[in-house]
Amino acid sequence: MKVWAGELGFADLAVSGVDLSSAEPGLEAWLADGFHGEMDYMARHGMMRARPAELVPGTLRVVSVRMNYWPRAADAQSALDDPQRAYVSRYALGRDYHKLMRNRLQKLAERIAAEAPHGFRVFVDSAPVLEVELASRSGLGWRGKHTLLLNRHAGSYFFLGEIFTDLPLPLDAPEAPHCGSCRACLDACPTGAIVAPYRVDARRCISYLTIELKGAIPEDLRPLIGNRIYGCDDCQLVCPWNRFAQFGAEADFAPRHRLDEVSLVELFAWSEGEFRERMAGSAIHRIGYERWLRNLAVALGNATGSPDVLAALRARADDPSGLVREHVAWALARHGQRQG
Ligand code: SF4
Repeated sequence: MKVWAGELGFADLAVSGVDLSSAEPGLEAWLADGFHGEMDYMARHGMMRARPAELVPGTLRVVSVRMNYWPRAADAQSALDDPQRAYVSRYALGRDYHKLMRNRLQKLAERIAAEAPHGFRVFVDSAPVLEVELASRSGLGWRGKHTLLLNRHAGSYFFLGEIFTDLPLPLDAPEAPHCGSCRACLDACPTGAIVAPYRVDARRCISYLTIELKGAIPEDLRPLIGNRIYGCDDCQLVCPWNRFAQFGAEADFAPRHRLDEVSLVELFAWSEGEFRERMAGSAIHRIGYERWLRNLAVALGNATGSPDVLAALRARADDPSGLVREHVAWALARHGQRQG
């Protein structure tokens, strides 16, 4: 199977069982603390998330795969260091990965079926699936203190996907954790969202605030967001295991529309039509134009108050969206305070 997976562009594949009962107390505590914020679907699926055989009856094994995405050309640190530039999480610079991964997983599952007929279902970043838990039990890596999967030979810059199957495949051995005494990700998180090792309060996480949150971004967190307009990679950028990160090989994941180097002012000038046309086929499209402008307004409030930044904000002071107007007003007030 590993050879077939490699031919389909996957960097690795491993098999786990379906008994995740030991993960249930941690999941329950995380939900009880409200750490999932507005992501109601996390609570809605309840403990079914930890029970693959309830989600897909008959499932005996989960085949987890990973696919590298780190773009060769885009320099993350230089984008983060320039407050006039936009920072987009590296996984979202190119085309949305979901469709590509799902198609490849489907092909892999069909190829397995040609040799050994089986009932299967494929998942990519699907809410009811505890993908990091499954992948760590399969030995694809271990859960880092930032809660993402880490692999000794590839760091963490990869997507995960799963095939639920009723084949009794031989199990792979889990990987022991290798974070040791390191706590670089906890210290580096701009908003302190990693409240303890292996515990992320999504309500403070910049990925949640810029992607999942629909309404206003809490004011106390806005200055901490810096120029991150869609997601955040800081906990991964500081992780020592990402010295071993591997570049993505898929052309689809290469940066589009200069998202790896473009300025905040340039993006803020996009019309809704331009946003829709340019972000079609990107994960960013899903947040919609209003949240896009909200995020950019926050980043422009954190940028250096150059004439073009102030002019861009003033041009949207009367935006039809109340959400955007409020964030623009906040950004202008912040520049006013700095100048005053
Ligand atoms: S930064 Fe350190 S603690 Fe955090 S995931 Fe990486 S190795 Fe683990």
